Amino acid sequence: MPRQAGILNSALDAVGHTPLVRLDRIAKDAGLKCNLLGKVEYMSSGGSVKDRIAKRMVEAAEAEGKLIPGKSVVIEPTSGNTGIGLAMACAIKGYSVIITMPEKMSMEKEAALRALGAEVVRTPNEAAWDSPESHLGVAQRLRDSIPYGIILDQYRNVNNPLAHEFTTGPEIIEDVTDTPSTPSRPSSGKVDVFVAGAGTGGTVTGISRALKKQHNPKCIVIGVDPKGSVLAYPDTLNDKADDGIPYVVEGIGYDFIPDVLSRGPETVDHWIKTSDAEAYAAVRLLMKKEGLLVGGSSGSSLGGTLAWFKTEAGKKVADTEGLNVVVLLPDGVRNYIGKEWFLDLSLKGEPSPLLHQIKDI
Ligand code: PMP
Repeated sequence: MPRQAGILNSALDAVGHTPLVRLDRIAKDAGLKCNLLGKVEYMSSGGSVKDRIAKRMVEAAEAEGKLIPGKSVVIEPTSGNTGIGLAMACAIKGYSVIITMPEKMSMEKEAALRALGAEVVRTPNEAAWDSPESHLGVAQRLRDSIPYGIILDQYRNVNNPLAHEFTTGPEIIEDVTDTPSTPSRPSSGKVDVFVAGAGTGGTVTGISRALKKQHNPKCIVIGVDPKGSVLAYPDTLNDKADDGIPYVVEGIGYDFIPDVLSRGPETVDHWIKTSDAEAYAAVRLLMKKEGLLVGGSSGSSLGGTLAWFKTEAGKKVADTEGLNVVVLLPDGVRNYIGKEWFLDLSLKGEPSPLLHQIKDI
């Protein structure tokens, strides 16, 4: 679905409609015969895949008469990107916003939120999801004490997976089916494999439904979950040895199963557990080989995909010309410019191989 032509009414009309980009250089280096494609969500107007659900949750609440301009206070617990999408929508529509967000989430997200007019409350990383101190608990307490406070609740709101079933999924299907197969670029004409990380799980659940129901029932959907989180299925994958270990990557993984995540084989065929090290190595590839300034969870998705290609099922796909493997890249580096992992791969990276040979400059 291309973006509407001509002048847009607001930044909300530039939510989604993101490009599907060939990751040919990474595919070649990994020895893949299949096509490796990235859905680049940082090109959405608020900078992430979560703009889509923010827009849909706000518009649905408006249609139900739940939001009153100038009065309503939209409160949401988030790892940041849903907050940024909501703050953007609410700046345009005239609602106040309070975001509750664990301390580990980047300063850059907080800065973007405040720049969009939202207030931000930080919560302890170690607070269990159901404790009153967690970002969910604090949001509920704020809602109970603020007149006209409302939580749209991305963890339970059906508009979260629906936004992906009705926009992200169909965009991927359209871009793949619109691209003809040629001798130099063979294509099955279908989405054969789809990979996404899960936070609320709305992205992987909604896109899987679009792909399996409307497009290719045999599409293999792979969920990516960081070590230390409990979202992978079956539960035996969530190794007790990793239980609760902190991970740096933001936006994916949880200590509870959100209602909107359908994690069984009807939706997600395989789950892959990833480490921070794998994620940041894959971010480096996306930046240096493909010129894509993505965030950490994009590295988790790609790192998980490259690990899956080493499994039996993955090898068959990797070795088949024309199969289309789509990897969701949820946000961009804007959210992480000052984070240690990004400084390590940029300013503190290896010295320039060209410049260090020249002595007198
Ligand atoms: N990556 C990032 C950077 C995110 O902010 C999120 C949202 N929490 C996700 C991945 C996962 O998306 P979802 O909540 O739809 O599972």
